[in-house]
Amino acid sequence: MNNDTMRAVGVIPSKREVALFQHHQPTIRRPTEARIRTIEVGICGTDREICTFAYGTPPNDSDYLVLGHEALGEIIEVGPGVSRFRPGDLVVPTVRRPCPHESCPSCRDARQDFCFTGDFTERGIKMVHGYMTEFFVEDEVHLNLVPKELRDVAVLVEPLTVAEKALAQVWQVQRRLNWDVDPNHPEGMGTGKTAVVLGAGPVGILGAMTLLVNGFKTFVYSRSAEPNPKAALVNSIGAKYISSETTSPSEFAKIVGNIDLVYEAVGQAKISFDVLKVLGLNGVFVFTGIPPVKPAIPIEADTLMRQMVLMNQAIIGTVNADRAAFEAAIRDLATFKKRWPQALQSVITGRFPLESYRELLLGKATGIKNVISLG
Ligand SMILES: [Zn+2]
Ligand SMILES: [Zn+2]
Repeated sequence: MNNDTMRAVGVIPSKREVALFQHHQPTIRRPTEARIRTIEVGICGTDREICTFAYGTPPNDSDYLVLGHEALGEIIEVGPGVSRFRPGDLVVPTVRRPCPHESCPSCRDARQDFCFTGDFTERGIKMVHGYMTEFFVEDEVHLNLVPKELRDVAVLVEPLTVAEKALAQVWQVQRRLNWDVDPNHPEGMGTGKTAVVLGAGPVGILGAMTLLVNGFKTFVYSRSAEPNPKAALVNSIGAKYISSETTSPSEFAKIVGNIDLVYEAVGQAKISFDVLKVLGLNGVFVFTGIPPVKPAIPIEADTLMRQMVLMNQAIIGTVNADRAAFEAAIRDLATFKKRWPQALQSVITGRFPLESYRELLLGKATGIKNVISLG
């Protein structure tokens, strides 16, 4: 290997190949950029889907796309205009970058998570290389400082931002009710309310932790019958795991009572719409999963529409996260680590070298969150 290149894992869509290859080492080109050594990169369903070539677009000047959007790194060099970071700092980068259009109020306001034009880019997903490599360069505005104590779990920040952004929107929507009783104690705003998480993958488990620290009575409704490791983890943090294999949605609703909030993290329409049918009065349902395109399924559309109107229900679809969600995720991760040190660790089920990319990306999905560790 020569000094100008480094190892990277990515896709070559034109050849339908997933490969470990040599990629040029990035250098600082603008004063506000920092160079970062990658410590860990999480692998998720998005990466696995890009490896099926369903989406994932290389940069304009490249026939490949370096994967990876869930990263933890250490700053090793800063440009002269960097004010918030020093070498040695641990950082988690955000994923989405703004579109170039002056007419996009969201991107011009650093809220590219709500881009209006669709011309945003995303590191490791859309037209910008990702982090599944040894080094990357990023502008400091897209980096978030991570306390050193969180080094062993900080790769979970990005998947946790899904719940953080969802919950931020739930608070906004539920201002229509008397939910925001005490803004000085936002961590307790879910007290007395019941939340349901659909799915027990990393986004679901981290979502359940977020709901619990916000005071919600929390249920996780997921397929696999008990006993299983995910159910044990969920029950160990004080949520209640219920299997959809052994408990139907209507039986589930009887057990749970009035459902104030559903946090969908399963990416399956059937079970999601089954549970939408049992959403409670004034309830909110947040969709975060992206199901693959499949043949149409029957749903009771009239019943659902009637109920949504008569019960004041709100449905939110949410994608991508803003800086505030990253900052909230870093804060909450510290809370999770104090409250559930073992459970939080066990969300990371495996750490692997870069060379294991093939089974991680193309093999059968195993464990909860698998991570590529570059040391
Ligand atoms: Zn991801
Ligand atoms: Zn935009």
